[in-house]
Amino acid sequence: MATINEAKYIWFNGKLVAWKDATVHVLSHSLHYGNAVFEGVRAYQTDKGPAIFRLKEHTKRLMNSAHACLINIPYTQEELEKAQIEVVRENNFTQTVYIRPLAFFGYGTMGVSSKGANVDVAIAAWQWGAYMGEDALRKGIKVKISSWMKPAPFSMMAKAKASANYFNSQMANFEAVNAGYDEALLMDQNGFIAEGSGECFFIVRNGSIITPPNDTSLESITQQTVIEIAEDLGFEVKRQRITRDEVYSADEAFFTGTAAEVTPISNIDGRVIGKGEMGPVAEKLQKTYFDVVMGKNAKFEHYLTYVK
Ligand code: PMP
Repeated sequence: MATINEAKYIWFNGKLVAWKDATVHVLSHSLHYGNAVFEGVRAYQTDKGPAIFRLKEHTKRLMNSAHACLINIPYTQEELEKAQIEVVRENNFTQTVYIRPLAFFGYGTMGVSSKGANVDVAIAAWQWGAYMGEDALRKGIKVKISSWMKPAPFSMMAKAKASANYFNSQMANFEAVNAGYDEALLMDQNGFIAEGSGECFFIVRNGSIITPPNDTSLESITQQTVIEIAEDLGFEVKRQRITRDEVYSADEAFFTGTAAEVTPISNIDGRVIGKGEMGPVAEKLQKTYFDVVMGKNAKFEHYLTYVK
């Protein structure tokens, strides 16, 4: 979706290496059989320098994803947290940063079984602004409900941030973008709204903020943060299943995610949502979210890890 903004160093198997040297062999196991796990973390520029948002929770999710996918990461959670801090610090970023930790099976074995395959771990970081562009954050995006559905829990593990899950996301996103929309919204096997290709979904309807439970979707850190922020602002937030017709008649809709932050949705399947612009609830939540991640809200400062 966006060209990578090269930085100086990538942490690779325990040490910082030059960006161009963080390479793998074409016979790396995960490249063929698709079993890898990753994270998407952001660091924002604050008055006290760059700060990583909810580093512990993201790193814990990476460890859980790896455990579920039988990827034995040869580092502790603490070591991986320190490594992410090091990558952000040593690259001397001056803008918003996206951090991408990745654990995968490397070179040395072949065949479907990953038994005995060695595990490589990389942590890259680069400067990355608004996921879908600044305009998307201000004016909202056009979304298409996908013909692809989220895999059922007996087929895939949505709670793991597994690379394999992103085949489904990628196909849904292609279909939507190819049809002239900005992003896809996927339903689960029962026809209830699950999530976007890389975001959680919220609506505002009859004065309540509603977001689905994570039955067939990622346990999102931003979704949880936005719920906390909304409740702190005095809104009622319901975790309940949402149907397609409820989406069309919502007063507001928006996506949340580490990359997407709080992105308003102005149109779904050709139906204008609310006034076809960012609604007042999304605007309030987006503003507060940016205050929180940039260290301007003391109540949530415990979620920030300053790197200097
Ligand atoms: N769902 C999917 C499929 C995602 O890829 C993401 C982005 N990580 C999210 C939801 C949002 O999760 P988070 O808020 O933890 O970034």
